[in-house]
Amino acid sequence: MNEKRRIVVLGGGFGGFMTVRHLVKLRFDGEIILIDKRDEHVFTPWLYEVASGFLFSKEKTNLKDLKKTSGISFTNLIQAQDGARVRFKKQEVIGCDFDSKHLIFIDGKTLQFDELVLAVGSEVQFFNIPGVKENSRTLKTLQEAMEIQTEISKLLEELRLHKRDRIKIVIGGAGSTGVELASELANCLNEASKNGQVDRTKIRILLIEAGDTVLQQMHPSLQLCVKKRLEKLGVELKLKTRLERLSKNRAHLVTVTTENTATEIDFDIFIWAGGIRPTALIESFDLPKDQRGRIEVEATFQVKGRTDIFALGDAAGLTSPYTKKSLPSLAQVAIRESRLVAQNIIRQQQGKPLKIMKIPKQWIIITPAGGKYSFMRIFGINICGRSASWVRKIIDLQYFGTILPWPVFWRLWRSAEKVFSLND
Ligand SMILES: Cc1cc2nc3c(=O)[nH]c(=O)nc-3n(C[C@H](O)[C@H](O)[C@H](O)COP(=O)(O)OP(=O)(O)OC[C@H]3O[C@@H](n4cnc5c(N)ncnc54)[C@H](O)[C@@H]3O)c2cc1C
Repeated sequence: MNEKRRIVVLGGGFGGFMTVRHLVKLRFDGEIILIDKRDEHVFTPWLYEVASGFLFSKEKTNLKDLKKTSGISFTNLIQAQDGARVRFKKQEVIGCDFDSKHLIFIDGKTLQFDELVLAVGSEVQFFNIPGVKENSRTLKTLQEAMEIQTEISKLLEELRLHKRDRIKIVIGGAGSTGVELASELANCLNEASKNGQVDRTKIRILLIEAGDTVLQQMHPSLQLCVKKRLEKLGVELKLKTRLERLSKNRAHLVTVTTENTATEIDFDIFIWAGGIRPTALIESFDLPKDQRGRIEVEATFQVKGRTDIFALGDAAGLTSPYTKKSLPSLAQVAIRESRLVAQNIIRQQQGKPLKIMKIPKQWIIITPAGGKYSFMRIFGINICGRSASWVRKIIDLQYFGTILPWPVFWRLWRSAEKVFSLND
């Protein structure tokens, strides 16, 4: 085994960071370099909490605490994994020369690798709808979650000072992100209204969806429960409503019926949660792609036709034999894949046969829907309410417990509990 081999992991999200972690745990003997354009590893499942946290607070320290709940600095995180063996470089990659095996950074520098792991995730899909990119907010990064929080806080402050007489929040797309955010915002504002902090009748939350139901990937009976929950929280759900165009403070919609009626609504903030797509970087790579533009990989997670490049997470396309579709874009999928990627990198160097992914028939998805209320379906049974929230909490807890030393984990957890429960 060549001890001087250099593994470069591009992307420090769930897939990339966990690959690094497994390489360290499995005592990989070469050099490990993790590259990310950001400073922190982001826990996306809590971004809806960040976007709706501390909406009535003006304290700057509170906002810092809020940010810390979902972003852990790579420097601290790597130290916790035996930092001496891993180097972190904050760099944005803009290209790759796969023949000479060099990554190209935005500042013109390059980095040589022996093996490369591509874990750059995905980006927001705007479907070329005119004006959406320019006039909406998105919830994909920690920065974006903080921006939504800031903008809604400002609107609420203006309402309090009678500088405006109502607020209209419109969310486009009733997938997990749209449902989580709409219900958490509604729940938080309902609670604030009970405490006399805001007049809820002056705030409308609209969730628009082109399809005929919410959470398309879920079981119909669960979709029905989610719809009821949204209704109870006061979220106005507009199904079969397609966004045609977005201008400043005005959404041009079409109701998808036989007549395709066009309507217009005004808004104070529009949050686009309509879907994701592969990143522009992945698009630029001359590597095999599947129909959705994800990098085609073998069940070993090697990119098709290459033995030195691995891809995983949202960036990779591996077809499930059960659904005949590529594996869903989920943190739990990326985390599961990361172990196999690390094992295979090591096995390849040792000349051993590579392992292949055992794909589960189903992935258990837990969708939070305002406060301590979530939805999940397991063994054909729907579980709604607090119990599903507890399961979700245990899963989140397990993740942080795995990546952080006990005292850091405990501090982060207590702080997050305190911050998020203010909304419940
Ligand atoms: C709001 C929201 C809520 C979600 N909730 C859940 C949930 O509850 N459960 C669940 O299972 N999944 C959830 N997901 C999906 C989950 O976040 C993704 O499937 C998962 O993050 C994919 O992991 P990844 O490693 O492929 O990419 P990511 O975790 O996105 O990591 C990609 C990393 O690559 C870096 N990067 C990208 N491009 C470059 C570049 N050019 N140069 C350098 N660095 C780069 C990024 O900064 C990032 O750190 C949610 C996603 C969102 C947006």
